[in-house]
Amino acid sequence: MKILLIGSGGREHALAWKISQSPRVTKLYCAPGNPGIAELAECVSIAADNISALKDFALQNKIDLTVVGPEVPLTLGIVDEFEQAGLKIFGPSRAAAQLEGSKTFAKKIMKKYKIPTAAYEVFDDAQKALEHVYMSRFPVVIKADGLAAGKGVTVAISLVEAKRAINAALKDKVFGESGAKIIIEEFLAGEEASLLAFCDGKNFVPMVSAQDHKAVYDEDKGPNTGGMGAYSPAPVVTETVLRQVKETIFRPMLDGLAKEGAPYKGVLYAGLMITESGEPKVVEFNCRFGDPETQAVLPRLQTDIVDIFEACLDGKLAAQNIEWSEAAAVCVVLAADGYPGQYAKGQEISGLAAAAAWPDTCVFQAGTAKQDGKLVTSGGRVLGVTALGADIKTAIKNAYKAADLISFSGLHKRKDIGKKALAYLK
Ligand code: ATP
Repeated sequence: MKILLIGSGGREHALAWKISQSPRVTKLYCAPGNPGIAELAECVSIAADNISALKDFALQNKIDLTVVGPEVPLTLGIVDEFEQAGLKIFGPSRAAAQLEGSKTFAKKIMKKYKIPTAAYEVFDDAQKALEHVYMSRFPVVIKADGLAAGKGVTVAISLVEAKRAINAALKDKVFGESGAKIIIEEFLAGEEASLLAFCDGKNFVPMVSAQDHKAVYDEDKGPNTGGMGAYSPAPVVTETVLRQVKETIFRPMLDGLAKEGAPYKGVLYAGLMITESGEPKVVEFNCRFGDPETQAVLPRLQTDIVDIFEACLDGKLAAQNIEWSEAAAVCVVLAADGYPGQYAKGQEISGLAAAAAWPDTCVFQAGTAKQDGKLVTSGGRVLGVTALGADIKTAIKNAYKAADLISFSGLHKRKDIGKKALAYLK
């Protein structure tokens, strides 16, 4: 079976790693990939959002299954285009991917199908938005409607901050069309967790839970990033919470989308706030695997992922066995100093092989490049080091033991990945 994977980050490296373990795969391509992925797949230099070139490649190379990593091609409708060309592809349709592509769409659907989430209002006029925040209780959360690579959200603790965020989106258009509308929503206090589920249009099977660390510095300080690390399982997702998430979030969402004529196939990612009352509420939906949650979740998956992809596409998820290891996993992201702002590139990376040689450890590459035969940094998030352990404490120890062997000039990593899980377990 020939598979084409789309994307170039740590998430795609983890997917390539898992897909390449399937005995059913005879050839794995990745577009555009990265040097880590190139050790497992043949990388082809087509950008992830160049849908027509990807389709031509898939047709010419008789690809049996395409797997999409990032959200942009999904919201652009890659699944619809591939399906029209008779190609098999794992991911939601353009209509279903609007759950991530438009926060106002996601909110409307949640309201319609009574899915618990923060109360909200939508604005396209800065003056009206300002009048609304004058009357609001702080903090308030201000979100650009469309995709903004994780930068479109402000949790404003003061009027000054709220004003700045409103003006940035609606007057200065810093997010372009993505910020032509904004959502102003209620602040939810609690602990965040991510629950991803495989979906076949009708049925869903949640993966093991995870928790991301969005802020750049320890103790959740500093600006938000794409994610500085993750662990799985997230103990805040207890059996009771999991049951609630299935019954009050995933079930009505899948039924609702099917009723709306946009049945959901692919991975549905629920970003959750486990509120102080214990009730899980939706912070956001994403229409794909999370990054870096995937790097903590997939090393625990024991079933052939290609079988799961096919079961989703064939509407046969209910009959698919999916097994997970009992071990805990921790992924520590190694970033370039300055990220998520300006940072240097081209720094030589050393110690990667020694780190990867630890048992039950994977080093997933994200922002890397090959320069004169050497591996160098080429992005903000450079590597993700995942280690397994019998419990979270051991997994944390193992992940840092490996991560500490890697160096490059300006390396920054959080030192507290997984600490919240330990605090919760205490
Ligand atoms: P990303 O693409 O990085 O996942 P995003 O831009 O789609 O993020 P959200 O996930 O909606 O944005 O919000 C980013 C972060 O802001 C959340 O992880 C959470 O920490 C915080 N946040 C968002 N909405 C709320 C809310 N209503 N109450 C409290 N915190 C919130």
